[in-house]
Amino acid sequence: MEIFKGSFTQQEPIPEDAIEAAIAVMRHGRLHRYNTASDEIAETALLEQEFAALVGSKYCVAVASGGYAMATALRAVGVNPGDRVLSNAFTLAPVPGAIAAVGAEPVFVDVTDGLVIDLDDLAGKLDQADVLLLSHMRGHICDMDALMALCDAAGVTVIEDCAHTMGAAWNGVPSGRHGTVGCYSCQTYKHVNSGEGGLLVTDDADVAARAIMLSGSYMLFEKHLAAPPAEAFAEIKYETPNISGRMDNLRAALLRPQLRDLNTQVARWNERYFAVEAGLRNTLGLTVIERAAQESIVGSSIQFLLQCWQAESVQEVLARCLARGVELKWFGAAEPLGFTSRYDSWRYVPIASLPKSDAVLAGLIDMRVPLTFSIEDCTLIARIIREEVSAVFQQA
Ligand SMILES: *Cc1c(COP(=O)(O)O)cnc(C)c1O
Repeated sequence: MEIFKGSFTQQEPIPEDAIEAAIAVMRHGRLHRYNTASDEIAETALLEQEFAALVGSKYCVAVASGGYAMATALRAVGVNPGDRVLSNAFTLAPVPGAIAAVGAEPVFVDVTDGLVIDLDDLAGKLDQADVLLLSHMRGHICDMDALMALCDAAGVTVIEDCAHTMGAAWNGVPSGRHGTVGCYSCQTYKHVNSGEGGLLVTDDADVAARAIMLSGSYMLFEKHLAAPPAEAFAEIKYETPNISGRMDNLRAALLRPQLRDLNTQVARWNERYFAVEAGLRNTLGLTVIERAAQESIVGSSIQFLLQCWQAESVQEVLARCLARGVELKWFGAAEPLGFTSRYDSWRYVPIASLPKSDAVLAGLIDMRVPLTFSIEDCTLIARIIREEVSAVFQQA
């Protein structure tokens, strides 16, 4: 019996050029983004400029985390305490957490069996809020043209959570560039790694100015390169609170070389993703998630469905795979575990009943695909899953 020996949580080391850049920042000691020598441009300001160019946005703000970027975006577009914010039922805890951080309440929208937001359910709920915090959970991008048409017609502002879609696109438009604001995470488990970190992009000068003030810029916003002109700050600099959450130059130095490699990394992720996918196809009882032709994906994780399976059988598959070194996550478990939780485990938000989503989540299996896996690792993992799913399926 084949056993997989790799680690599902081991990312690649930081590239040498990024290590060198980080050491240079430590050698000069000016880690705070506004602590610059006379002619110096901070690494953080350069990162913002480079990321804005990469995704084609006018403005970019680097912040402390992806979660902070989302809460800042919500504040910057005008969400107030007590407001309701539409969001995906299928997402992770930082998303409802960002809504809670501004004192607002989520209105959860169903997930389809293609793992994207259910546009019919969304259409029926658009009158309940002025803002949608759209999570491209696990990299699955819905029909963004249809979603934007719906939201534009209803006057609903869209903020995109691109924690899993940095480097991805819909119909050639980078993820994060359909809505008013795009939010990204630079945390170790995402697509670039500075330990912690976040990026926020927008073309809206007012939103960008507010986000910069919120992030803790004091009156130093003119040191930014990817910021709107000073006029955009004229009024809002007096009325926007400083909610410190800046990124520092050390993290920015780690990230700049990684951004230059992003396209290469995306191609490497996708080779691995499609190797696993190919190995899982045509397994009896297992449904592969088909990706839309308009979707350019980043396959940093893979999902499949064990549709209409008994919970005990799903648990048996998980246990048998784990015994062979393959760590799978399940979104149908009653108790939140590790990084995995579901909408009904966030008890600080109003109780929602989403039977359609429950049916999808009950069979939803999730697996990380770190770049430390070889293609052979990926085909081995797929073989193990296939064998164990087939064995349990035949028994049942
Ligand atoms: C990781 C993550 C975020 C943001 O995460 P931070 O840890 O705050 O950087 C947002 N949304 C989803 C779906 C995530 O997985």
